[in-house]
Amino acid sequence: MNFDQAPILVFWETTRACQLACRHCRAEAMPAPSPDELSTSEGLRLIEQLARFGPRPPVLVMTGGDVMSRSDLVELVAMARQVELPVALAPSVTPALTSSSLLEMRRLGVSSVSLSLDGATASTHEGIRGVPGHFGETIAALHHLRSLGFKVQVNTAVMLANAGELAGIAAIVKDVGAASWEVFFLVQVGRGRGQQELSGQENEDVAHLLFEASHYGFAVRTVEGPWCRRVAAWRKGAPLTTAPADAFGLGPLYRRQSCLLRELLGPPARPPQMASAGTRDGKGIFFVAHDGWAYPAGFLPLRLGNVRDEGPVGIYRDHPLLRAVRAAEFGGRCGRCEFRDDCGGSRARAFASSGDPLAEDPACTYIPA
Ligand code: SF4
Repeated sequence: MNFDQAPILVFWETTRACQLACRHCRAEAMPAPSPDELSTSEGLRLIEQLARFGPRPPVLVMTGGDVMSRSDLVELVAMARQVELPVALAPSVTPALTSSSLLEMRRLGVSSVSLSLDGATASTHEGIRGVPGHFGETIAALHHLRSLGFKVQVNTAVMLANAGELAGIAAIVKDVGAASWEVFFLVQVGRGRGQQELSGQENEDVAHLLFEASHYGFAVRTVEGPWCRRVAAWRKGAPLTTAPADAFGLGPLYRRQSCLLRELLGPPARPPQMASAGTRDGKGIFFVAHDGWAYPAGFLPLRLGNVRDEGPVGIYRDHPLLRAVRAAEFGGRCGRCEFRDDCGGSRARAFASSGDPLAEDPACTYIPA
């Protein structure tokens, strides 16, 4: 796919309204809709314009806040399907996620839904999400989505509070029959600022663990952790003559979680499914906020233009920052790394840590030759 011409995913933050107040929320969601969110007519126009990315239009990921709180959701999804945009929903698990609303989405042609699960235990997940009983409700909702025929994705934000439960979460992902597990590595934006990121060594440990988890029948994708592609490339290379922990100098987080993964799921059973399309913030990924401002990604708060004034196709193709991101014009280690095109580092984390979106990603430990 030519990412200079079109993204593969467009995330539209349809609203900031949400009944939850998660500790790491990027959107800093609030109980009521913001007065400046795109209106129905502006949303319909945005959808029509996104279809002009064709001939292979991006998947429109409708997120929030809680997308189910948009009262015009049916109208918006119907328009997206009419102009042949594939639609994925990323709702919150709240009482608004009803069977009738989900059936309506299914009828309209929504094929996939993602839900967030941030722990393998109720205490961890609910400690992060802030709602008692939310763990059981999320597991029940995942099973329910599968029973309705949706392709299901589990989203997990990895942080110090839940890194010791990743193998357990992988087992839940398999148990609910999810097609994919998307693991987000924290960036210090939004309410994520107060959360504790993993160290470089722990990120490396998690990357190897995720590669191993991708052998159990579901795909593993990462957000703001593109260096996992470097690890996947290494692990898919020549067979190892020693255990991965020794071959790659991995730490206790990997050793414990890798053992637990095998205890819970048995020996690896399938070929790895670790996504390798070389996307990153602004390359294959595009984000439109509730108020129409376009960004390279939801975690990179650099405004590119507003879809109230400019078409999203022009913003994505022509903005100088996105051109530089797609051309891998990076500084520091990312600029001289042999993985700079397939990986390229998290542009959001580079910006959050240095103020320069083209700087190196400090969460990656790799030192290029
Ligand atoms: S140095 Fe940068 S480009 Fe290379 S693997 Fe690390 S994050 Fe990716």
